[in-house]
Amino acid sequence: MDKIVALAKRRGFIFQDSEIYGGLANTWTYGPLGTALLRNIRNQWWQFFVGQRPDIYGIETPIIMNPAVWRASGHADNFADAMVECKKCHTRTRADHLIEGALKDIKVEGLPTTELDQLITQNHLTCPTCQEFDWTPARQFNLLFTTHIGIVPESESLAYLRGETAQGMFVNFKAIMDSMSPKLPFGIAQIGKAFRNEITKGNFIFRTLEFEQMEIEYFIRPDEWEAQYESWKKDMWTWVTGLGIPENDLRWRRHTDDELSFYSTRTEDVEYNYPFGGFKELYGLAYRTDYDLRNHSEKSGTQLDYFDQQQNTRLIPHVIEPTFGVNRTALMILCAAYQEDDQRVWLSIKPTLAPYQAAVFPLLKNKPELVSKAKEVYAMIGSDMAVAWDERGNIGKRYYAQDEIGTPWCITIDFDTLENDTITVRDRDTTNQERVAISELKSYLQEKLN
Ligand code: ATP
Repeated sequence: MDKIVALAKRRGFIFQDSEIYGGLANTWTYGPLGTALLRNIRNQWWQFFVGQRPDIYGIETPIIMNPAVWRASGHADNFADAMVECKKCHTRTRADHLIEGALKDIKVEGLPTTELDQLITQNHLTCPTCQEFDWTPARQFNLLFTTHIGIVPESESLAYLRGETAQGMFVNFKAIMDSMSPKLPFGIAQIGKAFRNEITKGNFIFRTLEFEQMEIEYFIRPDEWEAQYESWKKDMWTWVTGLGIPENDLRWRRHTDDELSFYSTRTEDVEYNYPFGGFKELYGLAYRTDYDLRNHSEKSGTQLDYFDQQQNTRLIPHVIEPTFGVNRTALMILCAAYQEDDQRVWLSIKPTLAPYQAAVFPLLKNKPELVSKAKEVYAMIGSDMAVAWDERGNIGKRYYAQDEIGTPWCITIDFDTLENDTITVRDRDTTNQERVAISELKSYLQEKLN
């Protein structure tokens, strides 16, 4: 993990945010390479789940919504983790993480605080910072960030930063019904930031104060929920394995009854085998019944339902919710891609996800004929894909740098190019080189990308 964090910093993927002021725990900045990776993840997700599906409608809702939304959804009161604080060194930690970290293979999320306290005492779980055993009793800690709007009196201006994107889909259900007239089953999707006042150490970008979600609320008839659930499980698996992640580092885990949210009758997580502490939540799939629409109907006074022409009745649709973290996806991709031998380090990222699909080098930077030919090649392929340019140092160093950022193909323009219009293409994973005609290069790369 340390090597991945160091590479991410050295090569412009991910930096400690506001480092010149000492940083801020659990906040990170994505550099140019990390930004490209995130963008590729989002774009491909959108194409897979929204672009190519006529039954899914994409929206963007605001981060700050009417605070009544969060009171109605229960987040303002109940979106909390149980926290304990060490009385000696004041380290605060999530009680469930303390217990699960020490006693492997147990899940205690959702247990009452008294039971968490018992487990901590029975197993004499000491503070990870100072090794003392002197905890406060566990207490609930709300995860929503609050803020204030305008200059109206404090109490009236209180607002929240959204803790999930999902509520945006529920409260705009009627607007989508009225404007798009969708037929069941259909979904509303969104990609956007969510904010949580997380109290546990983050494990790099795994758990941060702000992060991005890609979520779908899929509205269905109640009697079809099991079939729809299974179908979404398949789609989620197709997506995640399609990112080039080995299947034996992925698994489904079903939530226990204690863990289930009060509105859900089934939730399963896709877990990835991260290099810190093993399998951890990557994505979730929840059957939320009609809880959200029914609840918002009651609390807003606006009927959120659906007229079923087949049955000539009104019904409140049920919901299947697949949810995906953009940042946990990026972290998984970096972890799965990291390779090293005694010669070099390389990121074996799926080519379409890599920050650059190709790099173009003139063999020598002080030979104008090579540089201008290389610029032609750059312009020719640059309209189809992201292409890096490097003319510094020797070719070996340039290969090394591109390997470390996962660029699948490096293209060198040399003196033979000037004679016969061919270039060398060097492959990141095999380091094999091939001579390819410039006229064939576009289709050569396209074929490999597909
Ligand atoms: P955890 O149990 O790890 O706190 P969660 O079950 O609370 O996660 P959800 O509410 O299901 O998470 O959020 C959906 C997705 O959003 C998660 O599967 C994860 O990919 C992502 N996510 C949640 N919290 C964070 C966070 N603090 N930082 C980064 N990603 C997050």
